[in-house]
This record gives sequence, C-alpha cells and structure tokens, in this order.
Amino acid sequence: MAEKAENIIELKHITKVYSDNGFKAVDDFNLEVKRGEFVTFLGPSGCGKTTTLRMIAGFELPSSGEILLDGRDIAHLPANKRPINTVFQRYALFPHMNIYENIAFGLKLKKLPKEEIRKKVKHVLAMVDLEGFEDRKIATLSGGQQQRIAIARALVNEPEILMLDEPLGALDLKMRKEMQLELKNMHDQLGITFIYVTHDQEEALTMSDKIVVLSEGKIQQIGTPEDIYNEPKNAFVADFIGESNIIDGIMLRDCFVEFAGAQFDCVDKGFAPNEPVDVVVRPEDVKVVGEGQGQLSGMVESVTFKGVHFEMSVTVYGQEWLIHSTQSQEVGSVIEIRLDPEDIHIMKKMEE
Ligand code: ATP
Repeated sequence: MAEKAENIIELKHITKVYSDNGFKAVDDFNLEVKRGEFVTFLGPSGCGKTTTLRMIAGFELPSSGEILLDGRDIAHLPANKRPINTVFQRYALFPHMNIYENIAFGLKLKKLPKEEIRKKVKHVLAMVDLEGFEDRKIATLSGGQQQRIAIARALVNEPEILMLDEPLGALDLKMRKEMQLELKNMHDQLGITFIYVTHDQEEALTMSDKIVVLSEGKIQQIGTPEDIYNEPKNAFVADFIGESNIIDGIMLRDCFVEFAGAQFDCVDKGFAPNEPVDVVVRPEDVKVVGEGQGQLSGMVESVTFKGVHFEMSVTVYGQEWLIHSTQSQEVGSVIEIRLDPEDIHIMKKMEE
C-alpha cells in the first residue's frame, strides 16, 4: 500500500465568490492540515469560516483553487464519498427517532449487518459517555447530551476527518467548558483529524494544535495557540485574540519606537526608519509604578473588579487604555505606568 501523505488536507489558493451576489467570501486561502491535527478556523461572524468548511466537506464548490485529500484533488468528489463527517451547531438530530436509531441511521443506509451496527453504536455511546442511552428519546436529553449524540453519530462512520462547526455554540458556559475538554480528550484518543470552527478565541486557544485566524475571507495568521497569542502578526489578530491596547507609533530605528508622546526600547527590528506602525500592549503587561518612576502617565476613568485583578480604563495621551492590576486605583487619580521592552509588540500597519 502506498504511504499516506503527511498532509491529509491541503488547500491551495482557494477562492469562493458566491455567484448570486458576487460576494468574495474566501480569498486565496492556503492551508496544510497534518494527519491527526486539531486545526481551528477562528474569526468573527461572516469571515468565511463556514464557507471554507463546507468546501472541504463538499457541500460547496470553490470558485478557484485546489483541495487535496491525501495529495489528490477532490474537487469533483461528492460529499458522501469524502471520508469526512460534520457536526453542526444545531444538532440536526431526528426528533422522532430514539438515540440508537439516530446514531445507527447512516450505518443502516450502508446496509451493515445488524449485530455490527449494534456494536458500533454501543462503542460510540461509550466514547461520548452516554452508555445505556440507546432507548431514550431526543427530547429527554439536555443540550450537552444532544450535542454528544450528534458527535457520536458522526464518529460512528469512522471518518478520517471530523469537522465541527461551532458545535458548542448553543450550550451554556459551564457545559461548553466541559465539552471542550471532552472533545480534546476524544481527539487525543481517536487520533483522527479535527477541523473546528469557532468565533471564541479562548475556545480556539484551549483546544487547537493549529489556529487559522480569518478576517473578511483572508487568512491573517496561521500558528500554534502560543504563536498566535504571543506573536500576533498584526493588530487584528492581537485584538481578536485578547484584549489589547493598539496605539499608533513610529519605529524610529531597530528596537526603538515612539508612541503616546514618549520613546521606548523594544525588541522588534526589520522596519524602515520612521515607519508608521501599530504598537500593541496587553492590559496585563502594563505596570503601574510609583511617582517619578513611570514612562507615561494617565488619568483613571473607571475601575472594575474582575475576580483576580482590577480592570482599569485609563486615558493615556488622549487615548483610552485598558490596564489590569492587582491593586485598585482611585477614579480620577493620575497614575504612572512602565512598559518593559518585551511587552511592547510592534506590528506592521494592516493594508487597507
Ligand atoms: P458565522 O460565524 O456567522 O457563521 P462565518 O465566518 O462562518 O460566519 P460564512 O458563513 O462563511 O461566515 O460567510 C462568509 C460570507 O459569505 C458572509 O458575508 C455571508 O453573508 C456570505 N455568504 C455565505 N453564504 C452565502 C451564500 N449562499 N450566498 C451569498 N453569500 C453568502
């Protein structure tokens, strides 16, 4: 047997223009998905996540570009011939069937022997922690349980790739967190490739091996959760991935930048002298210091207690900054702040 390619899926220059309204939903999308990887498409509503997923699954045709499965172009392979199953946000379970019938549905269509179907259903129910639920009616299950059944129904087909389109979107926060861990465990145990869609950055950071950040149909950055969080490529990624202060700056020379009316040592290089840049500073990296020790000063506008820290809104050089601190400051007081060179992230200005 021929050795399987390392990349299970490759997207090459995929573009999707919807013919009815001429809208370009996906623009020159290039991605390699390794076998067994957990890849997440992350971005705000309308950025093209679902469209990309649907093209991989075969529910939508790309306008141009190639989709390779195990190195072979699958443009014309119908959805039901692709070794891919999808779990949607709305579980799309059959309400008139019990759980056994819901999960067994696809296998019955494939005309598998009854005993084999029974074994497989039992096996996937154990995987999603719902052993013995075969006879229950869908309406008697909680949202989280229904979503597990939807996952079981996809897994029973033993797909090589499981696609999940905002699968936890309809669940409350506590259930979401539980299911995130369960899905991650399932992925680790099964060793199959997961392609996951979410607009929730925390979910993406918790679960993924690789995150693809999208905005307006274009890839902004591909990287591990650590890369994306610590080294965002542009102000969009920085802002989307975590709360950030984004300030206009001028890169005076390598490792030296001016913003908010002051000059700072930093660690970034490779910009033209006096190049306009976006300076990104995370709220937790701003240090509130004593009088005379700060590089900048600002007026405290509001303070909110967030459980482990105080979140302050502070006007610094005419711009509102978010600052996290374990110590509260008085609203209306002027505070001084410092930034270490490694806490100042310099980004190229985004193309308009
Ligand atoms: P959400 O998180 O809201 O589902 P998304 O990132 O998954 O968003 P898509 O559903 O891929 O976004 O949609 C991308 C863009 O393409 C949107 O602006 C949407 O309005 C448009 N679009 C989606 N489907 C169609 C269609 N069938 N015809 C025309 N435009 C479409």
